[in-house]
Amino acid sequence: MSMGPGGGRGMRGFLTEEEKQNQPKVTKELLLRVFSYLAPYWKQLLLTLGCILLSSVLRLLPSILTGKILDDGLIARNLDLLIKLIILSLAVTFGAELIGVAESYLNSWIAQHITFDMRNAMYAHLQKMSQSFFTSNNQGDIITRMTSDISGVQSIITNTFTSILSNSITLVVAVVAMYRKNWVLATIGMIIVPLFTIPTRKAGKTRWELTRESQAVNDEINGLLNETLSVSGQLLVKLFGKEEYEYQKYEEANRRMINLNIRESMAGRWFRVILSTLTSIGPMLLYLVGGILMMKYDSDITVGDITVMVSLLGRMYGPVNSLLNIQTEWIRAMANFTRIFEYFDMPVEIESKPDAIIPEAAYGNVDFEHVYFHYNPEREILKDVSFTLKSGNSVAIVGPSGSGKSTMVNLIPRLYDVTGGCVKFDGVDVRDLDLKYLRDSVGVVSQETYLFNGTIRENLLYAKPDATEEELIEALKKANIYDFIEAQDEGLDTKVGNRGLKLSGGEKQRISIARVLLKDPALLIFDEATSALDSINENKIQEAIEPLIESRTSILIAHRLSTILSADEILVIKDGEIVERGVHDQLVKAGGVYTELYETQFKKALEVMNKDNENKPC
Ligand code: ATP
Repeated sequence: MSMGPGGGRGMRGFLTEEEKQNQPKVTKELLLRVFSYLAPYWKQLLLTLGCILLSSVLRLLPSILTGKILDDGLIARNLDLLIKLIILSLAVTFGAELIGVAESYLNSWIAQHITFDMRNAMYAHLQKMSQSFFTSNNQGDIITRMTSDISGVQSIITNTFTSILSNSITLVVAVVAMYRKNWVLATIGMIIVPLFTIPTRKAGKTRWELTRESQAVNDEINGLLNETLSVSGQLLVKLFGKEEYEYQKYEEANRRMINLNIRESMAGRWFRVILSTLTSIGPMLLYLVGGILMMKYDSDITVGDITVMVSLLGRMYGPVNSLLNIQTEWIRAMANFTRIFEYFDMPVEIESKPDAIIPEAAYGNVDFEHVYFHYNPEREILKDVSFTLKSGNSVAIVGPSGSGKSTMVNLIPRLYDVTGGCVKFDGVDVRDLDLKYLRDSVGVVSQETYLFNGTIRENLLYAKPDATEEELIEALKKANIYDFIEAQDEGLDTKVGNRGLKLSGGEKQRISIARVLLKDPALLIFDEATSALDSINENKIQEAIEPLIESRTSILIAHRLSTILSADEILVIKDGEIVERGVHDQLVKAGGVYTELYETQFKKALEVMNKDNENKPC
């Protein structure tokens, strides 16, 4: 639906019910905080202020000069002066425009720099937020704050602030100039301006409301069409014989729409009638009163003076109108800043302590000491979990889906912090270690392999930017993926597509194993994919992971028997508690949770895999 001429401008001037209800509280702190972003650019701001002041005054000068052109040039028949005044008037206009260019440049420069600062600060802040922030906030909301809300700041600086300044200056200068010429005419002008602006606002509001109403009906119609003209919708309509019913609903909505459209276009029409009448009443009234003063009261007012008054009056409508919209814009601007500051104020939950420890070398020892953890206080996810993993050994964590296996390992690189007990890395509580050191020492191959949109090489270099070609190839060979990459036309420079979509799950996981190998961490965490991979891929991953496990300290969240068997110890976790621990043979015989898992999952997976291999020749 088109809004018609002036619709967009009208829309800007009013607040929606939602905006009215969510008006921010403008406190001294909020204002000081907003200005703290402007402060570094005070020199440029001062210069802009100067430009606005000068250009606003200069733009009014030609109107004032018109009086002199008429009285001292034309009526006094002084051609010399007339030419000089015309040249001066043109020069002033040109000068004002030049200053306007500088003002626009400065304005945009300041706005861009402030949003640049804000965006960088926000990005850095968001990167420090814990995983729980990203899991509990909608990604769309986060991106909106980063993009639209901060862009809103730009428009506040370029439009709202400058518009308040330049319009106020223009008005003050115009009013002073008018009163200096003649107080009677100036007062009449002061009465006429609101007479013009009030109906403008009223008509704007009516149009705005009608537009909103017709947008709602339009949405309703679109919804109706989408529902009833879709394949399954039509099937339902036909099978229930609802054609007439749906038609009536459509016709009724359509009728409301045309009525609204007619009212909307008429609201615009009346608005133009009022506008044109009032804009011509203003000057006519000034001519009339000016004429009466001149002819009947022998006032020393001149033709030029009256013309100046009319011209100044014409220049006042725009600024008054804009200033009437300022309150709305101001509320919106403050709401925008409040939303941005809300994000800045979210505490960084996981960060290095000021006196964080950076040990000389990492060995990969892990201790869980009576660890408790919950995402929400209502539900404890890990309960009194204790185990020790010695450097050089490996442990497999098995358990039913949702029992807390991934949660357990996420506590080691501090993606989350424990809510009770403690996790130690090489004998030091992870919360006392330097976060960068800790995360550098722990390598994770997660279930959800994430590759950035780029080439295989770029994805590998993410782990070790200075890796040589030989190192890359060696890691890929160890991860059992080199043959595949070599067979690609572009080799290491093959693009992986958005999130690695161009690769299979197994290929992605092997690349991510290579990536972790390049990182060369003291502790390796391997979260095995639950989803079934084909047996070839599975074997390849197995071949890649086994030597890795043997050569370094590792924690394996295992779903397949072969992975479980390669570990030194097995921890069986159920409902967040370690219920059994030991080695395979011993646990199978115990007849507990592990035996059940073995019978229902591992054994079956093994049988499927064997069958898969047997069937292969077909
Ligand atoms: P799977 O084998 O299916 O991967 P898991 O044993 O690794 O499961 P976790 O991912 O650790 O299980 O999840 C343990 C419990 O915590 C589950 O019930 C899950 O719903 C819940 N959970 C996981 N992540 C979050 C989160 N970010 N916020 C709230 N609850 C969560």
